[in-house]
Amino acid sequence: MQFAHDENNNRILPYKGGKATCRLCGGTLIAHYGEINRPHWQHYGQRVEDCDSWKEPETIWHRKWKERFPETWREIVIGNHRADIRTPNGVIIEFQNSFISSETITKRENHYVNMLWVINAKEFDENLLFRSRVKSELRSYRETNKYNEIEIENKVLSTIQDAEIKHTNLICQYDKIDCELISKNIYLNMTTNEMSKSWKIAFHIANGDIEKYHIEFRMEIVRQIIASLDGEQILEIRNQLKKIINIENEIKNFQKNVSLIEGLSDYELQGKKYKLLQYSQLSKDNYHDVIILNKSNLTELFQEIKNFNDDNDFLSYNRIFDNYIFLKNLDQKLLNFKNEIIKIESLLKSEVEDFEKLLNVISSQIERWYEDKIKNYNQNIQILQRELLECNENLQKCKNELDLLLSNKNIIISKEKTNFSQNKEEREREIMKQFKGKYMLHWKNRRKSWLYAKAPLIFDTGKDYLFYKLSFIDYMKISIDDFLNDVFNNKFNYYI
Ligand SMILES: [Zn+2]
Repeated sequence: MQFAHDENNNRILPYKGGKATCRLCGGTLIAHYGEINRPHWQHYGQRVEDCDSWKEPETIWHRKWKERFPETWREIVIGNHRADIRTPNGVIIEFQNSFISSETITKRENHYVNMLWVINAKEFDENLLFRSRVKSELRSYRETNKYNEIEIENKVLSTIQDAEIKHTNLICQYDKIDCELISKNIYLNMTTNEMSKSWKIAFHIANGDIEKYHIEFRMEIVRQIIASLDGEQILEIRNQLKKIINIENEIKNFQKNVSLIEGLSDYELQGKKYKLLQYSQLSKDNYHDVIILNKSNLTELFQEIKNFNDDNDFLSYNRIFDNYIFLKNLDQKLLNFKNEIIKIESLLKSEVEDFEKLLNVISSQIERWYEDKIKNYNQNIQILQRELLECNENLQKCKNELDLLLSNKNIIISKEKTNFSQNKEEREREIMKQFKGKYMLHWKNRRKSWLYAKAPLIFDTGKDYLFYKLSFIDYMKISIDDFLNDVFNNKFNYYI
């Protein structure tokens, strides 16, 4: 220890034959004038070097550091310990030469509160390695960017390839929309065409023969139309048509009979008109009123005129009918038939009118169905036309971009390369600026107890510079003069 206290509590330096009292333990101190060490106070008759349990044997390193500060700052008693240095602002600086445990570090930090450590790192220089962050950051940056320069050309080429793929895709998209538009237009025309034949479709539905018309109409569409119609209505019109057909058949039957009668040859007998009949045209039902004439005496004055007496008589002519002619007056019958035809025809007319009414109802329903369909097609066509236009614009844009890329390929590549090296230089400058003066601490062996210190740490490497801890990773290089300057000006805010 350099300072002791006299009776008046004044700090006194050792002098030859000097005696003083220790302020900590009250023990007697004797001034020592060794040949190697500088003069210092030593406890008298005690084995311990120092009564302060925290003090290690004072070395030249200690002494040298203490002497960098004014005498009045040195060996200041705080509680039951003696701080190496206390600045007028109350900051304690402790110089630590040998290894201490993290527990001791914490104890001393808690005791002095506002303190910093100066550690003699020369002693464990071998285990302590400060690495420049600039160097290591630059190395890792260059490592990761080593291949980028080679990849620039590939990157530009792949950009061109992407543009080509995009261009091809747009062409496909355009063709797809175009095809869809054409097909929609075809369907629109077909549908418009079919709509004009709604009446015909309605008629086929009534007739029930729609399957036969698959060339003129799309069966799928007709099925959809039928499904959209009222089933009762379809049944009604089908029945109505059947009724009409039945009536028409009836008329045909009457007409057949009329033309049959009219087709028979006329025969006049005794001023009356008859029709000439074949025996084969006669039956048990109609032989009454038939006049039988013998062919052999047709020219004679008195002709033989007979009738069939009964069924047996009628049948007996079966073998001899060639010798006779058969006559019957069919005027009344003919008149009846014609009247019947007139009557049925008027009925037919009213049934046909009813049928046409039904047909018109169904036909207009079909027309409306088609109108909806056409409206739908038109909407779709409008959308597709807009899409086609948009797609065409995109396609043109893409084509221009692609052309530009292809014609400027080499310029782009060289520009990218220039950019890359400029960026690289800029980034490297940034790294140098960001990590300037910063170092990383590597502990090869133990003695990591200092890592747990809370107070600022300053490592003295034995050279004319120090390292102080900036963060858990970063250490800053600082000259001893700058450090002392900071202490004298009380500028500790950047030491953590
Ligand atoms: Zn003492």
